[in-house]
Amino acid sequence: MGTQERIVVVGASLAGSRAAVTLREEGFAGALTLVGAEPHRPYNRPPLSKSVLEGDDDVSLAGSEEIEADWLVGRAAVRLDTAARTVTLDDGAELGYDGLVIATGARPRRLPEEQMALAGVHVLRTLDDALELRKALADVRGRVVVIGGGFIGGEVASTARAAGHEVTVVDAAEPMTRVLGRTVGSWLAGHHRAHGVELVTNTRVAELVGEGGRVTGVRLDGSRTVPADLVVLGAGVVPNTEWLEGSGVHVDDGVVTDSRLFARGHGDIVAAGDVARWPHTLFGHETVRIEHWSNANEQGAAAARNLLRGPSEAVPFSQVPALGTRVHGTRIQYAGLPHVADASTVVTGTPEDGKFAVAFTREGVLVGAATVNFPKELTRLRKAIEARESL
Ligand code: NAP
Repeated sequence: MGTQERIVVVGASLAGSRAAVTLREEGFAGALTLVGAEPHRPYNRPPLSKSVLEGDDDVSLAGSEEIEADWLVGRAAVRLDTAARTVTLDDGAELGYDGLVIATGARPRRLPEEQMALAGVHVLRTLDDALELRKALADVRGRVVVIGGGFIGGEVASTARAAGHEVTVVDAAEPMTRVLGRTVGSWLAGHHRAHGVELVTNTRVAELVGEGGRVTGVRLDGSRTVPADLVVLGAGVVPNTEWLEGSGVHVDDGVVTDSRLFARGHGDIVAAGDVARWPHTLFGHETVRIEHWSNANEQGAAAARNLLRGPSEAVPFSQVPALGTRVHGTRIQYAGLPHVADASTVVTGTPEDGKFAVAFTREGVLVGAATVNFPKELTRLRKAIEARESL
């Protein structure tokens, strides 16, 4: 057990709140401060792009209400001084620490601000974003254009279609091919089209166009303009690391940590969640930044335990990444790191039946799995990835 008396957790979403819960569970009795930029206590994000859009307001996050800590919500960290061990907040307040958890997450990638400012243009990351989008989907009649065919794109397109909107999805490649591979990507493209979505693939958005301050269309890079009454931008995220500039914490598309989640060269700072990039011991120390719920949940807890243990007794974080989404009612899941594979094959079922599993291997060893309507297979393959089985 460490000797810290003051621990500051910057970022009060899932990874940060799980870190805080774990610190207390592990017996940390010192001063604990949680800083969160949003005006809300921690909440659960997965419902935002699903049930919240459909009218259900429940976003409660089990365990976060009872954390004994000083809560500073609606306040952002703007500077870190690792020599003085202080975090400066946007109101000028300074917080001293012996241990620091960086869990500042990520924010949606945006188009130029004059385009984002057009009425009818939305992103989806926070509870407030989801409530605004829900209202807009209820108020607007006409075409919804979703930019990006990833997790946000697929889930928003499903909800908007189910609500009776005309929907166009524009994706830079074929939806989710980069994360799920070609077989599932092609199947997903057909699935969107079978559900009445107009899918524009291998196309980037050049700009949003508007009239009288309201969006009217999306100009594609091939010069065609798709008419739009509502635009949802789901074009990926950018990790929130600007506040670490000049601190000496190494940042390269996220906070770079060692395998035990310590910021490289800093035995008193750990990182977790969407902002952390760490070498994964199960996959040849490939550095990864994973943007999903179960990773933030497990990693927040693991980072907290390692912070208390200290660098000499800390253990690597090697959970197999796994996540799922629902697109037009169909469950799509993956585990491991399909993108590091050098080969893939359908191991069970067939894409034609809409129920199948794909295994991904590198040099013959299982490194990833993607399944459509096949949770049992995902569980089996995930265990096999963990055991480094060959195919
Ligand atoms: P994402 O899953 O990374 O997908 C973004 C997609 O947009 C990519 O296919 C990307 O293509 C494409 N894209 C980027 N710029 C574009 C452009 N200018 N024109 C057309 N396409 C463009 O990110 P997301 O859907 O925005 O989701 C944001 C975060 O929320 C992610 O971290 C995601 O994991 C999380 N989330 C998770 C779930 C879930 O687990 N079920 C649900 C919702 C959200 P390239 O990759 O080729 O650039």
